[in-house]
Amino acid sequence: MQRRELLRKLMLGLPAGIILPGFLASCKDDLIPGEVNFKGKVLIIGAGAAGIYAAALLEEYNIDYEIIEASSIAGGRIRSESAFSDIPIELGAEEIHGSRSVLYDLAHHYAASKIKEDDLTDYYLFNNQLRTEKYLRESAELAGEGETLFQLLDSLGTYPGNNQSVSQYLTEFPIDSRLFDIANALIGNDYGSDNDRIGMLALREAESKYSSGDESFKFVTGSYWELFESAFQTSLSKVIYNQQVVTIDYSGALVSVATASGSIYAADKIILTVPLGVLKEGDISFSPALSAAKQSAIDKIGFGNILKIFLKFSSRFWAEDTSSIIGGARVPEYWVTHAGKDSTEQVLTAFVAGDRAQYLKQLSEADVINTLISELNTLYPSGGVVSKYTGQYLIKDWSAEPFIKGAYSFPGINSAGERESLAEAVAEKLYFAGEASNVNGHIGTVHGAMESSYIAVSQILTS
Ligand SMILES: Cc1cc2nc3c(=O)[nH]c(=O)nc-3n(C[C@H](O)[C@H](O)[C@H](O)COP(=O)(O)OP(=O)(O)OC[C@H]3O[C@@H](n4cnc5c(N)ncnc54)[C@H](O)[C@@H]3O)c2cc1C
Repeated sequence: MQRRELLRKLMLGLPAGIILPGFLASCKDDLIPGEVNFKGKVLIIGAGAAGIYAAALLEEYNIDYEIIEASSIAGGRIRSESAFSDIPIELGAEEIHGSRSVLYDLAHHYAASKIKEDDLTDYYLFNNQLRTEKYLRESAELAGEGETLFQLLDSLGTYPGNNQSVSQYLTEFPIDSRLFDIANALIGNDYGSDNDRIGMLALREAESKYSSGDESFKFVTGSYWELFESAFQTSLSKVIYNQQVVTIDYSGALVSVATASGSIYAADKIILTVPLGVLKEGDISFSPALSAAKQSAIDKIGFGNILKIFLKFSSRFWAEDTSSIIGGARVPEYWVTHAGKDSTEQVLTAFVAGDRAQYLKQLSEADVINTLISELNTLYPSGGVVSKYTGQYLIKDWSAEPFIKGAYSFPGINSAGERESLAEAVAEKLYFAGEASNVNGHIGTVHGAMESSYIAVSQILTS
């Protein structure tokens, strides 16, 4: 996800039990606390960040495992595209959120010179003008209502009220309605949805636990996937591709899975890392069926969609210090894709979630691009937007991915407390991991996916 700085809370320390993998730690004994008794075999379903990291952890302990992946490539929601521009563009995950996570440590170890903190300026659309956060907070024009909004955003982790949607909550305050698109961009859109679908209690839960830090890093050169390829070569060499798991039977002593192509795999334990969208659709049937509590968690935790639309321009029309342009009616957030990177090209990314993504999806590609160019033209009336647009674009719709089915999980209206239910192991055989089952507030992130695997592997090894 894309977390804005104002939404971040700097808290103390790493989440309990989340420490460096053995290949980074000075002493492997530190990796999994507790006595490691497990000697059996593990099946990992899904070769995204969670699956690959689970494999790397099992590798450290010489545990027999297989990774079964439905698609023909690994990485899941980490994927880059090299043909569009002179440097890879990130179709999915793009930022490393915070410097206190196993992911940051990994990047620092393998690609320190390739990542850079984003320290540029966000501009907000208010009253047809692009304004800084300082302006919104201090301008007499807003009479303190901008300050009220930012204070609310800063205190979501300590929300004191009952459950309601973010949209409902905002109406309790004297906030200029012209700020609502900004509020939606900073909360709903960041979480891959809309403010009226996000529940305040579930949001509080996520925000209050979030602890990986305030900063945001991007790859100046290379890509997210290159980092994973360098760090996890051994695990990646063991992925079995084109095997979509369709049934999981954990009724016997061993757990067995069947794939769409008719292959059967068996092991002592399974780590299931498929996206929440896949579970929601019921693409995998379980025997015995999942408990009502588990199914309720699957139903209640939100899973949104995001369109990432890349537009290439011949030259820049935005201010040189621009990081993001926030609060457009059609596109809640544009960012300068190549800002601070080793590139001579000018690319904007439109990051559109929820209803706005749904609206754009119904249009032809030509109309999507016209809609965006027209909005940018309104934002920069003297920028020469139309003449600078090269005609080159790329639209990434994650809901169209058959084995992903959307972007990432979000704090649905009645989903407070449900992450624990989703993450809970079943019969000491079936272990749930992946970003949606993160219980540390790092939902919708790469490091959150990795942390969830760390917990699953720890439980298995000490079982
Ligand atoms: C547009 C977008 C932007 C994002 N931006 C950021 C960001 O800037 N920073 C950040 O930290 N995070 C970001 N994220 C979120 C991050 O990408 C995910 O949280 C993380 O990659 C999820 O990893 P995962 O292993 O849980 O799931 P996935 O990466 O989805 O891996 C699950 C794997 O399971 C496979 N699978 C599915 N069904 C089956 C089946 N039946 N059998 C076998 N295999 C199956 C899938 O093919 C996939 O490879 C973004 C995501 C998106 C979509």
